[in-house]
Amino acid sequence: MNLLTRLPAGAITEAPLSDRYDRVKRKLRVSLTDRCNFRCPYCMPEKPDFLPRPQRLTRVELARLLRLFVAELGVSRLRLTGGEPLLRRDLEAVVAECGELRPLGLERISLTTNAALLARRAEGLKQAGLDDLNISLDALDPATFAKLSGGRDVRPVLAGIAAARAAGLRLKLNAVIVRDINEEQILPLTRWALREALPLRFIEFMPLDGRGEWSRQRVVSQAEILRRLQGEFEVQALPRGNDPAAYYRLQGPGDHPAGAPDVGIIATVSNPFCASCDRLRLTADGALYPCLFSQRGVSLRDTLRAGADDAALAGLIRNTVWHKDAGYAAHPGYAERPIAMNSLGG
Ligand code: SAM
Ligand code: SF4
Repeated sequence: MNLLTRLPAGAITEAPLSDRYDRVKRKLRVSLTDRCNFRCPYCMPEKPDFLPRPQRLTRVELARLLRLFVAELGVSRLRLTGGEPLLRRDLEAVVAECGELRPLGLERISLTTNAALLARRAEGLKQAGLDDLNISLDALDPATFAKLSGGRDVRPVLAGIAAARAAGLRLKLNAVIVRDINEEQILPLTRWALREALPLRFIEFMPLDGRGEWSRQRVVSQAEILRRLQGEFEVQALPRGNDPAAYYRLQGPGDHPAGAPDVGIIATVSNPFCASCDRLRLTADGALYPCLFSQRGVSLRDTLRAGADDAALAGLIRNTVWHKDAGYAAHPGYAERPIAMNSLGG
């Protein structure tokens, strides 16, 4: 399918895709599936109700929407996620199709994955045009890793990380920290990441789990993560950029090389970065969620399947984005969460 044969770029309007708080949207996270080979308790419901295939966007529908977001609405970065995107056998083809959007303004194609199935596909993904990936790694200790993944083995993940590096893919590690499960892994993960010269970010446990087990007590806050790091390292806070993570430079003791990457903390709960949020989310069934905490999504799939043209779809997207809420603080109700992270696309 050639993505370039539809409307000429800029045909609908040149205005940036912005919400009523003047936050321009440049990044789209695209959930390719709600299915997963892991069962992380902070994410997946105990008995997930996966989307039946006909509800999922077809590749042609997805390509049409992505072209619209990039060529007409100014999105310049795509992150493919899920669920577990490596469960899609056509992931390389999807990446290659995204690559067709580069002449229309796409700057970066990224992937978020648990990496368990990455080892054999890293090279192919690089060849297909993937720029970089975020890999979830919540623990190095096998027993702790098993608790946080629903009984899975950490070794294939480490093999996936090694393969991605060997393929020349840039990568970052992400670790969600959940009280009483893996806070004791903060230092081992940090030491390992520094030694391996891999960028690592800790993520606060957000109220988006599918099991209703989140509570404030289970959030290991940015402040606590920092205290633990300060117990071993000299920690220097770096000036805050436009990134969701706050970054810290760590020094000694230990054997990590000079110039090792800075460590980040994404404090969505204790210190949300909503004021500068430039992201949107598209689910595997084609619903647009302007915010992680949006109460519901707007189905672009239904509008598209009803025969809407690109101008109508773009209008619906602009309208949905315009009404994006201020952010996390605007959503008081955890209990009302309609969608878990595996469906929303983290
Ligand atoms: N399966 C892939 C993975 O695990 O990287 C991609 C999808 S996953 C939903 C994307 C990211 O969301 C992962 O880094 C995961 O740790 C994070 N995540 C899921 N549930 C979360 C929660 N309740 N709080 C914070 N992060 C969460
Ligand atoms: Fe799967 Fe990722 Fe959710 Fe874990 S966090 S259950 S790997 S989608």
